[in-house]
Amino acid sequence: MGFSDSMLRFNGIGERVTFGMYNNDTPADKDKEEFFKIAKLAAENGMTLTQHWQPNFSIHHLLDVFERVNKEVPIGKLRWSIAHLNDGTEESFQRMKKLGIGWAVQDAMFLDGDKTLTSKGANALKRMPPIKTAMRVGATIGAGTDAHRVANYNPFIALRWMLDGKSASGTPLRGPEETPDRLQSLRMYTLGSAWLAHDDTSRGSLEVGKWADLAVLTKDYFSIPVQDIDQIHSVLTMVGGKVVHAEGNYTAFKK
Ligand SMILES: [Zn+2]
Repeated sequence: MGFSDSMLRFNGIGERVTFGMYNNDTPADKDKEEFFKIAKLAAENGMTLTQHWQPNFSIHHLLDVFERVNKEVPIGKLRWSIAHLNDGTEESFQRMKKLGIGWAVQDAMFLDGDKTLTSKGANALKRMPPIKTAMRVGATIGAGTDAHRVANYNPFIALRWMLDGKSASGTPLRGPEETPDRLQSLRMYTLGSAWLAHDDTSRGSLEVGKWADLAVLTKDYFSIPVQDIDQIHSVLTMVGGKVVHAEGNYTAFKK
């Protein structure tokens, strides 16, 4: 844990830990046992673990294993997480919160929403993903893109999608009951994800004592129309206090 530097650092194991628990909604006992052994090993070594899981109807298999590990080696401080879970229920988020497990949420429905609408229907899409439900429960949420296999890496496309719930074709999908506001979305995207990376004491917000990581944007994220948010880009970007990108009036800052 923590190997390498702040630009690229080893943050535990995950996404695909064992094949028996990857995109398998009916794992056998031996699959769960195999996953349990590795998860327990990770816990014993103080490692973070994140696991890809799609549908809520089978998430109990994963949560059962996490709860079993937690009984032997407490995982509450290790910042484990579940990625995706786009139809998660309040009950699932409650179980995650109790274990200290965070939720990594992405804008997969921006590109996949139209296809998913055909297979799952408009009602299911209204709460995909159930961002406000997870917030109400109090689960820690880190927002991202899952780029490049799933989505564009541009955070402003993801932020617009968090606020309007529309697919790339402009089809309204997620409903207002699962739509966070601008500040909530930005916090999930910054501090929330910094928490997943064990970085929330050094980045994720602009505060004395944290790194000077900041971007000067073309437009005010908080006041422009939501549909214009995906057009925002940075005109001055600082990483660790150093200017790494500058354009237009800011070019002089680049050394
Ligand atoms: Zn995944």
